[in-house]
Amino acid sequence: MGKKKVRQFMVESQSVRDKLYKVTLYDDGSWACSCPAWIYRRYECHHIVTAKQYLKNNKDNNSKVKEIPIIKISNDYILRPGKVDKVTKEGNTLLIPLIPIPCSTYYLAKIVYDLLSYGVSMKRIKSYFHPMIDSWTKKAVISFIEKNS
Ligand SMILES: [Zn+2]
Repeated sequence: MGKKKVRQFMVESQSVRDKLYKVTLYDDGSWACSCPAWIYRRYECHHIVTAKQYLKNNKDNNSKVKEIPIIKISNDYILRPGKVDKVTKEGNTLLIPLIPIPCSTYYLAKIVYDLLSYGVSMKRIKSYFHPMIDSWTKKAVISFIEKNS
């Protein structure tokens, strides 16, 4: 697992008008910026310094900095079975219908397809349903559903 984003800020460029850079603080305490100074030279740029100051001053009304919410990447969804008839998002949880036995391939494939459309990785989906769909591929599920619905 890579490091996780903790806070994220848009910081105004000093030199280019209306240009904003995205500054990110990670859970290991490291920082990154989307500006060339950071990307090409790993140099602690003005934007990172400005964001650090903003944090230190505890949301001082610094108009050069705007904090933006961290969007949870979809792989962070909690997967759990629920009494639902299709994949249902509830906060950061995806409720997955209980699988009837026997289960039609279409029904199972549709659930997998819906999970994929929420951005859940095939690897996670497989481990959830293990060993039922171990031989399935993402590509096959998508084309099967798109052909059959
Ligand atoms: Zn920068």
